Amino acid sequence: MYYDTVIIGGGAGGLELASKLGRALGRKNGPEKVLLIDRSPFHIWKPTLHEVAAGTLNPQQEGLSYSILARANHFSFVLGELVKFQPENKTLSLQAVYHENGEMIIPERLISFNRCVLALGSGSNFFGTPGSEHAYVLENAQDAQNFHTHLLNLFAKAAYSADKSLNVVIVGGGATGVELSAEMMEAYHEIQNTVGSEQRFRIQITLIEAAPRILAGLPEKVSEQATQALRQKQIKVLSGTKVTEIFSNKVETDQGSIPADVVVWAAGIKAADRNQEYGLPVNRINQFEVNDQLQTPFDGVYALGDCAACPWEDGKLVPARAQAAHQEADFLCKLLLTRIEGKAFDQTFRYKDSGSLVSLGNNHGVGNLMGSLSGGSFFIEGLIAKYMYMSLHLLHHKTILGYGKTVLLALARIMQQRVSGRLKLH
Ligand SMILES: Cc1cc2nc3c(=O)[nH]c(=O)nc-3n(C[C@H](O)[C@H](O)[C@H](O)COP(=O)(O)OP(=O)(O)OC[C@H]3O[C@@H](n4cnc5c(N)ncnc54)[C@H](O)[C@@H]3O)c2cc1C
Repeated sequence: MYYDTVIIGGGAGGLELASKLGRALGRKNGPEKVLLIDRSPFHIWKPTLHEVAAGTLNPQQEGLSYSILARANHFSFVLGELVKFQPENKTLSLQAVYHENGEMIIPERLISFNRCVLALGSGSNFFGTPGSEHAYVLENAQDAQNFHTHLLNLFAKAAYSADKSLNVVIVGGGATGVELSAEMMEAYHEIQNTVGSEQRFRIQITLIEAAPRILAGLPEKVSEQATQALRQKQIKVLSGTKVTEIFSNKVETDQGSIPADVVVWAAGIKAADRNQEYGLPVNRINQFEVNDQLQTPFDGVYALGDCAACPWEDGKLVPARAQAAHQEADFLCKLLLTRIEGKAFDQTFRYKDSGSLVSLGNNHGVGNLMGSLSGGSFFIEGLIAKYMYMSLHLLHHKTILGYGKTVLLALARIMQQRVSGRLKLH
């Protein structure tokens, strides 16, 4: 199999890039020239995984089939997991696909390319903390679904237990941990509303952060407001606390031990260890080192999003965020289209931080907007922040589905929630 441009990983960045390139090249050339590869047959925007985990978003409705997106946006799609990558002779291999019963469905495949973009995302970083096997992570839709199923079981167990209580510990006070704790508290209240008084139980959600404050990468005011909002929701926020070991029933910290019926680890990212095997330079968290055109040392081989270590300002790297993956996809689309036309491209990538928004559950958010009319950063909260947060998801859908389908999908979801309720209980 040969394609001019191959994108591996159809997440926040890779899928947007494939869609834009395919649409620019058109119905005839797009599917011939552009191939997207992903190990999953359907796409879920990763920043919504905490909602899948809490059960406030249904992955069966949320997931969009890559094959259908490929047809609509004029690119080709192949299901498979990257296992070998040879940048020097521009080939890659995808693992064979097997049925649950062990039968091989698709054999291993070798694909040659002229240009390739690695958009493989990242996973969790436990920083060597012992007991990681006792913690849940939210790396993909399957993880989020597994956690959700476990959470429903724990809710049921707590409802029939003698002490009627449930202890949840979330490690990591970044956006993921903060959003997950708020979303879980909402799921708990929804559940309480569906059961009789005899099955009601108490929940203690504890959010642990090693840094002196949660949302340490955001302005102090955002962090203060988020802490206040979480405490109002009866979520315990322990900042300046380092987890030293995880057990099946507790978390040990440098300040003492905390009981835990379930632990979720959301304290940092690391790209796949396998990235070290591809002959490309990687940093200490396995991100591919790229220059200011997102290119690796190999001609025609690029990386974007969480798996790329791209220089930014003051010696820092571009942060691992959906907005960075989105901007990098835009940049690479222009670069690749120019190169496909056989022309030179001399622009460089500059990440523009537009601020960050954090969802604190239904109708509440906090955040800061950067590069505003004032030229600085300003604080927003409440319903406006929540609506702006939701609009980021819609913007992603607009890039991959177009305006009309995004509006239809949003309306369909509102109607579905009206019929089935906000929480997925099965
Ligand atoms: C719960 C949560 C909430 C978040 N909230 C926010 C937020 O509010 N704002 C924000 O800016 N960012 C947020 N993020 C971070 C954001 O999701 C990531 O920065 C962004 O998704 C990175 O995009 P990407 O394209 O690099 O990778 P991803 O979106 O992770 O996509 C990677 C893709 O590569 C595929 N893949 C991986 N390995 C292979 C392989 N070997 N072979 C084939 N395919 C492979 C995966 O299946 C996946 O589809 C959040 C993350 C999480 C987990």
